Amino acid sequence: MEAAAEESTPVGRGAGSVSAEETEKWMEEAMQMAKEALENIEVPVGCLMVYNNEVVGKGRNEVNQTKNATRHAEMVAIDQALAWCRGRGRCPAEVFERAVLYVTVEPCVMCAAALRLMKIPLVVYGCQNERFGGCGSVLNIASADLPNTGRPFQCVPGYRAEEAVEMLKTFYKQENPNAPKSKVRKKECQKS
Ligand SMILES: [Zn+2]
Repeated sequence: MEAAAEESTPVGRGAGSVSAEETEKWMEEAMQMAKEALENIEVPVGCLMVYNNEVVGKGRNEVNQTKNATRHAEMVAIDQALAWCRGRGRCPAEVFERAVLYVTVEPCVMCAAALRLMKIPLVVYGCQNERFGGCGSVLNIASADLPNTGRPFQCVPGYRAEEAVEMLKTFYKQENPNAPKSKVRKKECQKS
């Protein structure tokens, strides 16, 4: 689907920034999505994609419900944002490259790669994801110099990280029917 002749652009280019008020408002909503995931026995991660001060996509983990290991909050939000674009006759490329993604946990390696490919410039997240993180914890997909692989994006970590970690701990204390038994309790997030 992605054309071969992508050019990659340096980090920070036109990435913009978000105010403390925006961060507070949207992360609160992302936290609510994570809580909803927890209530539905999913890994509690919630996320929001905001364009022009409007939520164009939101998601939470749906992995257990769908039995699809790729249905992370970010992937769900990307699909919703694409549907939003279709519904309004908007060009997805124009919307995505001006959007901000708010997510309660550092995007994993898969999601970080997806965010690069969709050219989302800025990601605000809560806690680190020590086991799967794609924004520096395991690999740095966000800022790596990877030719023909979308565009690097800027990360703002650490917002309400402790709450995000607490939710993860709560989840991993419960029975996760789909988690490998030996690893269930190992999940750790650190505040940056
Ligand atoms: Zn992910």
